[in-house]
Amino acid sequence: MISMDENEKNIINENPLQLPAITPVSEAILAMHELHASCVLVIEKNQLVGIFTERDVVRVASYQMPIDKITLSDLMIQDVFTLRKSEIDNIFDIAGLLIKHHIRHIPVVDDYNYPIGVITPHTLRREMKPEYLLRYIRVGEVMTNRVIQGLTSDSLLEITQKMALHRVSCIVISEPGSKVAAGIITERDIVQFHLLELPLDRVSAKTVMSHPLISTSPQDSLWSTHQNMTKALVRRLVVTNEQGELVGLITQTQMLRLLNPAEVHHVVQLLQGVIDRQTSDLQQLNQQLQVANVELSKLAIIDELTQVFNRRHLNQYLSQEWTRLKRYRRPLAVILCDVDHFKLYNDQYGHLAGDRCLFKVAQTLWKVANRAPDLVARYGGEEFAIVLPETTAEGAEHLVREILHSVHQLQIPHMASPTCDYITISLGAIVAFPAPNMTVNDILESVDRLLYRAKEKGRNTYVIEVIGQDILTESPSTIAGHFAS
Ligand code: GH3
Ligand code: MG
Ligand code: MG
Repeated sequence: MISMDENEKNIINENPLQLPAITPVSEAILAMHELHASCVLVIEKNQLVGIFTERDVVRVASYQMPIDKITLSDLMIQDVFTLRKSEIDNIFDIAGLLIKHHIRHIPVVDDYNYPIGVITPHTLRREMKPEYLLRYIRVGEVMTNRVIQGLTSDSLLEITQKMALHRVSCIVISEPGSKVAAGIITERDIVQFHLLELPLDRVSAKTVMSHPLISTSPQDSLWSTHQNMTKALVRRLVVTNEQGELVGLITQTQMLRLLNPAEVHHVVQLLQGVIDRQTSDLQQLNQQLQVANVELSKLAIIDELTQVFNRRHLNQYLSQEWTRLKRYRRPLAVILCDVDHFKLYNDQYGHLAGDRCLFKVAQTLWKVANRAPDLVARYGGEEFAIVLPETTAEGAEHLVREILHSVHQLQIPHMASPTCDYITISLGAIVAFPAPNMTVNDILESVDRLLYRAKEKGRNTYVIEVIGQDILTESPSTIAGHFAS
């Protein structure tokens, strides 16, 4: 077997995604998505303990598992097939391992079972060079079975005539009654004998044939056969079976033809069987993955219960918009809404009714804040945040009033509420003009404080504040509203 040179070690992706076993599956999927990684190597105490692949993502999606609540250690495949770096040898043997084990990732580990990389069909294909094909193709696949034979007792003249008649460049010689190849006589030998003026009719094949024969077997790779030919300075080898019986002939020309681009399609055909199988597997998997990916990207940013964005996406969007608006010195409005007396609602109507109520409220917010850059997210429990880029105090107040009105219009009965017979909400809103040191957290803290003030004012109402350097007023201007129930 020919060992691989350093370049060939490139079949290892040396920057695989590695995560601790306690990582929530939702985070792992997000990381896979962001880093375009097709697998996660799961680590515990500096050891590879499992692998989590796109195939598992499909499983997660199809069973609709609660990905926030389960960790990689719950879902990873534990008995991982791995290779040590020193075991990496023949690129085709490794391709064979992927097929044999029906896997698409082979983690590569050091002597302490610490992962140092991963091999995938993609990394293999990247390094596949034409001459590797010689290592992969067996002699039996390209040899010619049409071998013209002569006997040791034949005269050189008879041999020469056979060569001319069958238009071949060599005759394989065997003892009468035997199938074992004893020697070979080639065109080049005949030229030699002719120059030496040997009496062709009186010299027997046995006396001049080349022997002992260097032979190869149908199972040998073309690469080792090629090397044997080069070493022996011959241009052809007889192919024999285990009993030493002649089964074919392989020539250098046949092998070189394989490396000729014009003939590569032949090689491709030989590999087609393997590739076809893998491709149809992959296509199927890819289709499932596409569906799963759409679902998952939604899962990663959407709150399941209320179907508005989740807190993670809110944070991301808020930071992104704040950075942008700071650059253009434009205002950002943020509203925080909290359902009034929701604990009492749950106590009175049950938790499931509470869930339905949260869904309706969330969807109402979503309908009201409907400009393209507006974003509604569940902030936690019965609290929702609304991000309104480029919105002034007037705009924010208008929207806040509309929200109060729309939630009231839902007319969800709340007999236990001291505030109103129906579900109501309280709102804090902030309109922030960019100031150099003002962070997203400052904004969220302020808006939380304003919401608290609205609660203090008696609920079913709002408090808005405008802050930031572009405001000419000395102190923050506050608008406090009330919605009559
Ligand atoms: P306040 O008017 O001061 O906001 O009173 P409150 O009862 O709404 O506030 P509190 O913070 O005391 O209680 C919030 C309640 O919201 C308690 C919690 O059980 C409920 N809650 C939080 N998340 C969910 C959820 O997903 N579904 C349901 N049904 N209830 C939830
Ligand atoms: Mg609350
Ligand atoms: Mg509340």
